[in-house]
Amino acid sequence: MILKEISLHTKRCLYCDMPLQENARKKYCDLICRKKYNQELRTLIDEQAKDIRGVLKRNRRILKKLYEQIKQEPFVDKNSLEELGFQFKYVTHTQIIKGHTACYCYDYGYFLSEDGRYLIIGVDER
Ligand SMILES: [Zn+2]
Repeated sequence: MILKEISLHTKRCLYCDMPLQENARKKYCDLICRKKYNQELRTLIDEQAKDIRGVLKRNRRILKKLYEQIKQEPFVDKNSLEELGFQFKYVTHTQIIKGHTACYCYDYGYFLSEDGRYLIIGVDER
């Protein structure tokens, strides 16, 4: 039990998990482990960024489609947006228009209106 606790506190290489010398300031066994760790981290970050771009593009497509379909009365409820696959936590930017915060996915966006529905806004309204 004591051995196990000690081993849990042993400093280990971030890449291969081999124990490192106590008091060593290193995070990796050697330059190879450091290089591999950083490569894998970069790949992971690139993949996540690619996934997020995919979500943002899908959000934009949904907003654009709704905007074009319902231009006269461009209000939708939250469920309708979510059923189409819209993910609210991904937006490219926000903008204050007439005291209200508009959330955008590139050139299409939305306001949350007072009745809880979403007003879809398009490129020509910025
Ligand atoms: Zn290592």
